[in-house]
Amino acid sequence: MQKVWEAVLEDLRGRLSAHTFAAWLAPLELVGLEGGVLQIRIPHRFFADWIAARYLPDLVETMARRAGAPVSRVEWVIDESIAGSLEPPATERGPSAREARVEVLASRRASARPRARERKTGELPFPSSGAGAPAPAQRPERSSVAPPRPLEEDTLNPRYRFESFVVGPSNQLAHAAAVFAASAPGKRYNPLFIYSNVGLGKTHLVNAVGHRVREERPDARVLFISAEHFTNEFISALQHRSIDEFRARYRTGCDVLIIDDIQFLATREQTQEEFFHTFNALYHADKQIVVTSDVYPQQIKEMQDRLISRFQWGLVADIQAPELDTRIAILRKKAELESIALDDAVALFVAQRVESNVRELEGTLLRLAVRADVEGRPIDLALAQAMLGSASRPSERLPSVEEIQRAAAEYFGIGMKELLSGRRHRGVSQPRMLAMFVTRELLRLSYPEIGRRFGGRDHTTVISAHRKIEAQLPHDERLQRALESIQKKLGLG
Ligand code: ADP
Ligand code: MG
Repeated sequence: MQKVWEAVLEDLRGRLSAHTFAAWLAPLELVGLEGGVLQIRIPHRFFADWIAARYLPDLVETMARRAGAPVSRVEWVIDESIAGSLEPPATERGPSAREARVEVLASRRASARPRARERKTGELPFPSSGAGAPAPAQRPERSSVAPPRPLEEDTLNPRYRFESFVVGPSNQLAHAAAVFAASAPGKRYNPLFIYSNVGLGKTHLVNAVGHRVREERPDARVLFISAEHFTNEFISALQHRSIDEFRARYRTGCDVLIIDDIQFLATREQTQEEFFHTFNALYHADKQIVVTSDVYPQQIKEMQDRLISRFQWGLVADIQAPELDTRIAILRKKAELESIALDDAVALFVAQRVESNVRELEGTLLRLAVRADVEGRPIDLALAQAMLGSASRPSERLPSVEEIQRAAAEYFGIGMKELLSGRRHRGVSQPRMLAMFVTRELLRLSYPEIGRRFGGRDHTTVISAHRKIEAQLPHDERLQRALESIQKKLGLG
């Protein structure tokens, strides 16, 4: 079973950014899977909360697939002693391990705001800290952090294929260009640059390109990698003096290079330089290059002009938020893939209620399916209304940036002026970074936009604040408490 677990983590590693994986998934340990109950050991109860809201569907699904057994519930075993291996420790931890068992339904599907809604309808809330009787620790030995695995390209997500991609007016061009590039790599749309807001299908589409090329040309070498992963690998190659290998792989050892989320290279001068040469080598050898980004090439700030202009040599295609009909078609497709019985009325209702983001649309459908399962009833309009509310209620409204700022300022007992000021004192910068983090997580505003709303800061400041908080959260209880209080203040707790 331990092997299965390792394989599960490996699968997830391919789908998440390296630092997310390291911060949140790598510390998890498998206790066991029995009778549909998956037990996972976590260093803090905060992990349960965070993972449940983001990675649980993927985790549960991958586990079920790999283990060949259903997972109906996840039980978290909190064990602070394993926090010792987390980097860097926030505080000294005493020798006594505290374990507590808490449970959540495996159904805790990712969605922007599952918590408030689920509470209302009496589903299990997130585990409260220390719930359950302390149990004696009986862990396998754990001496140190696992050695870093050799870096390699991300793997293609098996679910992201053209066959499972729904085409509509919002994504028609991007889709057509992707299909063309996959069938005739390096020929016409080179590079292919696809951009859109988050959750609209970029990653799905470029994975589909990779699958299609591999199907049609089994010997073609397809590399799919996030720009972040590319960066890390480059840095690591520099450190380990293996830059020649790195270059051989990306410049000559590759027929199709797919780079996801290129905006990550913003401000990273040296990696941009490297990527520039990679690009040229591939381009002049007529190799296909596919790039995704969350903004149009010229809007990627702090990106070398010569790269920006190269991004526009081929085809630049955007993906817009899907129209109602496309949203309905996507719901139907997902329902079919997941063997969920979904009638037209429910599909219409959900598609009307979830408008801007396909990931959320998907999450809503999965949550509905699990709720129906748990309650032993069909997915009908009544259930959908119970979950999504029959009309938009004010409480379902997301908070504004100002409300988030105010909540953070109040929690830390500082003024709004200070929060938005340029002061770098930790007592002010920490609340500010946390507020930026919450804004990004909750509202999915772009980094430049968040920068503007926080006193005209550069987007790189926002990105680094977000990363800092994300890295700190898993092992900083003060920060966790602050985040929870702020969420409560915002009516999300
Ligand atoms: P992005 O990379 O733009 O943030 P993703 O490719 O990760 O978005 O898509 C988010 C989710 O929405 C994925 O699960 C993906 O399968 C799904 N999705 C997005 N667009 C479509 C579509 N047109 N048809 C089917 N699924 C889609
Ligand atoms: Mg993506």
